[in-house]
Amino acid sequence: MTQQQNKLLFNKSFWPLTILVVLLVSFFVYAVKIDVRFFPLIVILQIITLGILLYFRSYFENEITSIKLKKEEYLEQINLFSAEIEKENNAQRSLFERVEAYSKLKSLAEKLSLCATCAQAAEILGQRTDELFGQHDTTTLLYLFHVKTGDFGLAFAMKAGSKVEIRSKKGDTFDHWIIKNLKPLLVENTKNDFRFDATKSFSQKEERLCLSLIAVPLFVGNKALGILRVDSPSEHHFTTDDLRFLSRIADLGAVAMESAQLYEHVQDLAMKDSLTGLYLRRHLMDRMNEELSRQLRRKKELSFLMMDLDYFKKYNDRFGHIAGDLVLKKLSEILVKHFQHPGNIICRYGGEEFALMLPDCSKEEALKRAEDFRQEVEGTDISLRREKTHITISIGVASFPSDAQIKEELIHKADQALYQAKRQGRNQVC
Ligand code: GH3
Ligand code: MG
Ligand code: MG
Repeated sequence: MTQQQNKLLFNKSFWPLTILVVLLVSFFVYAVKIDVRFFPLIVILQIITLGILLYFRSYFENEITSIKLKKEEYLEQINLFSAEIEKENNAQRSLFERVEAYSKLKSLAEKLSLCATCAQAAEILGQRTDELFGQHDTTTLLYLFHVKTGDFGLAFAMKAGSKVEIRSKKGDTFDHWIIKNLKPLLVENTKNDFRFDATKSFSQKEERLCLSLIAVPLFVGNKALGILRVDSPSEHHFTTDDLRFLSRIADLGAVAMESAQLYEHVQDLAMKDSLTGLYLRRHLMDRMNEELSRQLRRKKELSFLMMDLDYFKKYNDRFGHIAGDLVLKKLSEILVKHFQHPGNIICRYGGEEFALMLPDCSKEEALKRAEDFRQEVEGTDISLRREKTHITISIGVASFPSDAQIKEELIHKADQALYQAKRQGRNQVC
């Protein structure tokens, strides 16, 4: 009962009681001082007073009990309301969390949709996963199957926003489990999970501590593209909700990677020659403009090589066009082996002519490398129907800016050098 309620009850009963007590005391004093005859009357009055007091007492007790009951009722209602509010709050919180998660996924999808290459998509996917999970010392790992070779290997590793070095590039027991089962994996404690042998779980060389992890396969349709994984140095770090969220991220990543692969393939088809896999002349022309202005800024030399197979018409006439095609393929392989380097462009200029752009390469160096290549071509046995055949090649070299200041002039100079090599008897570098 509250203080206010007590006060109310007291106010209700205070005045009649006070009047009765005052009357009783006055009669008593009167009887003692003046008239003894009033004693019986006083006794009667006392009995009445006692009765009234007893009545009031039971009245108050009833009042108190009913107020207590009401209080309990109110408390019960308050509890019900609190539970209701708590439920509403939880629902609101989970709604906010879901909205937040969807907005994170939306921004990831937007970023991924802008990726034109598989490498870009892998970078964004890894970075965003690290941002979303990486507040607690976790490591994000992305393993991918190589598009052409199919080799499985580490493509991305990040911890708290910085790239990290991971020694096991081919994955561990957990990654191999995912490749085999193509299912999401949650390991709460890597040391005592019944599915894995703890002694084999990590290579001895690995310094990274991983006591729990979540990992999901990246796949589109039935095609597995790789694995996205988050490791934690503490046990029981991840929940099934985390695993579900990682799966959604991986789904988006897989779709983006698949479309980037398709885009790259279409680009390749547009830029590369289908027989040799080398760039087409158009791509070389586009890249040369940019490269020449870059070299000019950096004050570096760039060399340009033109090559033409010697007496190839005769070769075709003798061994057939298909055999000639095999020669062109073989020659492309030797070209790639000799000149493949970031920045270099090796292209099939047309027919049995090839052109190479070698940035940061002096004329002297280019002449030497061309000669090495020429010698290898000359010494290569090309087996045709159990017969060993040989071809030779003539090469013209020109350099920018020593021989020419503009693209057209550079190509012309290299062409002139090639024709000089032809005129001087073929199978040589000029
Ligand atoms: P040289 O260059 O030494 O003067 O003699 P050549 O016989 O090579 O002369 P030319 O360059 O004029 O001949 C080019 C020949 O290359 C003609 C054609 O039959 C052959 N050729 C061009 N493109 C292809 C191709 O894609 N496949 C095959 N098999 N042959 C090709
Ligand atoms: Mg030719
Ligand atoms: Mg020729």
